[in-house]
Amino acid sequence: MSEESQVDVRTLIAQHAMTSRLLGVDFLPLGSVPESELVEENFDEVAESKPTGSKSVESKINSSDQSGAERSRTDESAQPIEHEALRRAYSKVAQPQAQLDALRAMYERQAPHQHYNTGFTNIVFGEGSATAELMFIGEAPGEDEDLSGRPFVGRAGQLLEKMIGAMGLSRETVYICNVLKTRPPNNATPSPFETSLCAPYLFEQIRIINPKVIVTLGLPATQLMLNTKSAMRTLRGRWHTLVPGVGQVPVGIPEIEVMATYHPAYLLRSYTEENRRNVWSDLVQVMEKLGISGPAR
Ligand code: URA
Repeated sequence: MSEESQVDVRTLIAQHAMTSRLLGVDFLPLGSVPESELVEENFDEVAESKPTGSKSVESKINSSDQSGAERSRTDESAQPIEHEALRRAYSKVAQPQAQLDALRAMYERQAPHQHYNTGFTNIVFGEGSATAELMFIGEAPGEDEDLSGRPFVGRAGQLLEKMIGAMGLSRETVYICNVLKTRPPNNATPSPFETSLCAPYLFEQIRIINPKVIVTLGLPATQLMLNTKSAMRTLRGRWHTLVPGVGQVPVGIPEIEVMATYHPAYLLRSYTEENRRNVWSDLVQVMEKLGISGPAR
């Protein structure tokens, strides 16, 4: 056997050992979700977690000319903010965290969510390290996130935290955010219009943090980052690159590597061994890219 293929075999064995070690142990405990709770659905075409019956709540944030109370209109004439204008607004602030704070203040002033239906309590802008090497992007805040103002703190968030822990990282060392910064009524999937109004802020978060790797959680974030309409099953599990100037990705964004994977809420609802194995193998690829080997045991 050549030296090269010996290395390949060793890498494969190491990956397999790591997958087996972590599958069902840490981040994805086998059998902890009763089969009766598992829902068969076409995850590729719809957003993953759609609890029903959640009620909209009145906003505590008075931004722009309206309160954040649920609105019954979509102002189709609203235009996404220009990326350059957004950047100029706080370019005098040097430190990444100060830039993120200024960007958040800008978001609150501009309140792009005033142009579409949203019932929310708190803006959920994002949290974690402003200099993170790894950034996770979800879809939109759910009820728990809306009430706390923090991304991924509900059931899906707890699973995401376990996944991050299984990688040997913590919430504090990565950055976690969403495409939309306010909760959609009934947790509806973000529409292309809503996404287009919020995308400039997300791309600015990316530009400021400049992570080495972005992990997109689920279809809306994946399709936005990769400018594609393809299904999740064809996108996950392999490397993509954020291409500046293509789709909604502004010029001036670094060419960041993107790994698409299933949303943890989908995983909770379709808690099959195959799905867990797939997500874990996606994360292993991310770990390899970042040169990390998981938690010490
Ligand atoms: N689902 C998301 O996409 N984002 C959150 O913050 C929580 C659940």
